Amino acid sequence: MANPKYAEATRPIPQAQELGLLSDGTKLMKRAPRIRACGLKDEKGKLCAGHLKRWYFYGEELKEKFGAEAELYRCEKCKAVYLPNEEEEPRSGTICY
Ligand SMILES: [Zn+2]
Repeated sequence: MANPKYAEATRPIPQAQELGLLSDGTKLMKRAPRIRACGLKDEKGKLCAGHLKRWYFYGEELKEKFGAEAELYRCEKCKAVYLPNEEEEPRSGTICY
């Protein structure tokens, strides 16, 4: 298996994926692997970079979508909701430019 430390240095920064909006306008995102900071930009194009924190007190809409025990994260700055990434395992050779 490739050394993840080495692979990370040569890899482009993974981007979070936008999954859509909740009914109250909250952004729903999927975390990029191993990223713990919010990658959203505000109206001025400034990176949010808020810390993603495990979030337990989400509302009914999210409970319906993901269940009451879901692993969810929320940006402490812009309040966007993040789902964990199922590809935390580094896969070499899948990102090509
Ligand atoms: Zn944010």
